[in-house]
Amino acid sequence: MFYKSTRGNENLVTASEAIIRGIAEDGGLFVPELFPKIDKTFDELKNLNYKELAFYVLSKYFDDFSAEELKACIEGAYDEKFEDPAIAPLKYSAGAYFLELFHGKTLAFKDMALSILPYLVKIAAKRLDINKEIVILTATSGDTGKAALEGFAKVKGTKIVVFYPKEGVSEIQKRQMITQEGENTFVVGIEGNFDDAQNGVKTIFGDSDFNKLLDENGYMLSSANSINIGRLIPQIVYYVYAYVTLLKDEKVKAGEKINVVVPTGNFGNILAAFYAKNMGLPIDKLICASNENKVLTDFINTGVYDKNRDFVITNSPSMDILISSNLERFLYEISGKNSDFINELMEQLRTEGRYEINSEMKERLEELYGGFATEEETIEAIKEVYASSKYVLDTHTAVAYNVFRKYVSTTKDDAVTVIASTASPFKFPRSVNEALSFEDSKASDFEMVEKLSKEFNIRIPKGIDNLESKPIIHTTTCDKENMKNVIEEFLKL
Ligand SMILES: *Cc1c(COP(=O)(O)O)cnc(C)c1O
Repeated sequence: MFYKSTRGNENLVTASEAIIRGIAEDGGLFVPELFPKIDKTFDELKNLNYKELAFYVLSKYFDDFSAEELKACIEGAYDEKFEDPAIAPLKYSAGAYFLELFHGKTLAFKDMALSILPYLVKIAAKRLDINKEIVILTATSGDTGKAALEGFAKVKGTKIVVFYPKEGVSEIQKRQMITQEGENTFVVGIEGNFDDAQNGVKTIFGDSDFNKLLDENGYMLSSANSINIGRLIPQIVYYVYAYVTLLKDEKVKAGEKINVVVPTGNFGNILAAFYAKNMGLPIDKLICASNENKVLTDFINTGVYDKNRDFVITNSPSMDILISSNLERFLYEISGKNSDFINELMEQLRTEGRYEINSEMKERLEELYGGFATEEETIEAIKEVYASSKYVLDTHTAVAYNVFRKYVSTTKDDAVTVIASTASPFKFPRSVNEALSFEDSKASDFEMVEKLSKEFNIRIPKGIDNLESKPIIHTTTCDKENMKNVIEEFLKL
């Protein structure tokens, strides 16, 4: 299995190379040359547990790892850190199956991939005989940052730098990051939004002088964002797992198609579902749910991607994004792997903030359904699901639920539906409070967590227990223009 750049100007690389480099030199994203097929029957696969299934899927993509190495990565990643032994339990509520992806350390789905990425990076570095210290550079809309910090903290031979938008993350998200322990971790708040952070990071990756300077000082950059194939591929596993769980529980017959709803920001999580579909997983519609930053909804409905609009800070902050990086990988596939056209589109995005795809590609958009939820609708969805089934959603999952309802009411499609449940309600207690009014709104997020636990009789996840009393370690902030300087300071260049 080899990987190539969506922009076409690079030779084929191995999985190890794609993981270490994060992004291709021509600015493109690494994509698998072709999609490996699921070559066992679902009846065989349904007897595998999460780790076994992960091995089955990952070995098809990371074929330059030995079986032993890959097994060690999987064992290290999906252990008792996950508070649910199923790793990704599937729960039925209010008309859909919620695939709970938030039982890892940081209470959001990013743990699913970021708990394995450091292991993959270490083995990939060994395979490539890299003797440099690897600097993981990451922009976060709130959840990636903490999950990456947890994954890489204290990992020998690595350092990790996280940039988060100072005013764009929840109190809990921020506190999780700035209390991070580990000599090799650096956390910086930037004056700007997530797109600014992400653009800054991308620019640094593409800055050849800076990369040379790093190289001379014994460092090399890599990425923990979902532009890294090492993050994307592990996310395929839980869609396959959801399907075989449905099969095992006799909710679908082997081969019966399901719909999948994904609350989307950077288009990574839903892209993993698209990859699963291309491997042969029976998925019919991929339902892409956005918040008021509905650039993807508009794109899916018109074929025009236009980021020239106001950036809205919403109650689902991890989806407050106007430039969905991973969409490039999707465009690549639906253009028939036409790198020249992808280059054109990305150049238009860079210069005009907008592009339009051609008519053949528009036809392929049929596979997707795009919808969005306002903040009020998000709160309404939390209320509705709690009232009907005593199940508490976080705001991101609530966006997905609202769009699922809109989809069903316009199409009358009654296929079995899996909703990717991307965060624990404990991570966004203020909004959950607003929906279910269990606490005085002047209380802090931490008080609300306590109350949420008592009121709804759910145990506080370990990841945020005692968070408030942890010492604050990271206080650096910077302008978006100064991100490089901050890195220079950390690394003493
Ligand atoms: C990151 C995140 C999303 C968006 O996922 P993408 O892969 O960026 O589309 C949705 N919900 C939560 C809770 C997240 O942390």
